[in-house]
Amino acid sequence: RAKELGGHGYQFYQPSMNQRNTELLQIESYLYNALHNNEFELYYQPQINIISKTIIGMEALIRWNHPQLGRVAPNNFIPIAEQTGLICPIGEWVIEEACQQNQIWHDLGYTDLKIAVNISARQFQQKNLVYTIANILKKTNLSPKFLEAEITESSIIQNPDLAKKILDQLSNLGVLVAMDDFGTGYSSLGYLKKFPFGKIKIDQSFVRELKNKKEDLAIISAVVTLGKGMNLQVVAEGIENDEQLKLLVDLNCRQMQGYYFSKPMNAKDATSFLQKGIDY
Ligand code: C2E
Ligand code: MG
Ligand code: MG
Ligand code: MG
Repeated sequence: RAKELGGHGYQFYQPSMNQRNTELLQIESYLYNALHNNEFELYYQPQINIISKTIIGMEALIRWNHPQLGRVAPNNFIPIAEQTGLICPIGEWVIEEACQQNQIWHDLGYTDLKIAVNISARQFQQKNLVYTIANILKKTNLSPKFLEAEITESSIIQNPDLAKKILDQLSNLGVLVAMDDFGTGYSSLGYLKKFPFGKIKIDQSFVRELKNKKEDLAIISAVVTLGKGMNLQVVAEGIENDEQLKLLVDLNCRQMQGYYFSKPMNAKDATSFLQKGIDY
């Protein structure tokens, strides 16, 4: 099917100009069968509380292993999944797989561990999202308080009234709602006031050059204070080195996530990580 849509013959007639388009079409056509062919896998990246030195949760991050394309990065196929609507069944699979895995970890004795899943804008506009999540929680026997839903403000922008309803329902269900990529959008502060967020994830762009940028230090410090004042958890993303870690500790940021602790891992390696524990 992919060959028909954009095989080599097509590329021959439209050399470089349409190569990108061809690639997109190919990804799209392969994406239709990916779920059915079991080509998705969840990876897990730990979230650390640096003060209590505990692993408080795992963020589930989808991976797509295609026999021809190889490993396709989420940033290269999630937008296509959004446009085609495929994100809904894929997203449902993600939530169920993640809840199931967290229940396995709970059964192994990690009874406080949270699992965070990313919910994209299109998925969010689905009327039955909360119903679906409630059913998955029942089916997997996971308590709602161990599930976190990460959304970005793009989920709110298109239809704030609907978003408000869904977020209220999710939070009434007991699911923690986290604002992902905080600080990169337009009106994040207003949203924190109007919507029932329980957690802020400081975008990795503020952590990246922390060492040289007074501005980033000031921003993170302000967000930590904001979180305290609004009774929100704050987690910093993208910690890659010791220096960033130390600066963040000085800024009173307790929750962290990044390559410094671990890259996202498959379920087996994530389980080993839990078993080893941490000591920084
Ligand atoms: P995100 O939710 O903001 O996830 C963080 C991304 O940063 C992940 O990339 C993670 O691997 C990467 N990362 C973590 N620590 C570090 C670090 O120290 N340094 C650097 N440079 N990167 C770090 P990934 O897995 O490629 O995912 C990219 C984006 O794709 C995610 O951003 C999320 O928006 C989306 N995504 C991933 N999985 C899913 C999913 O299951 N459903 C939906 N709807 N979106 C997903
Ligand atoms: Mg995320
Ligand atoms: Mg993020
Ligand atoms: Mg992101």
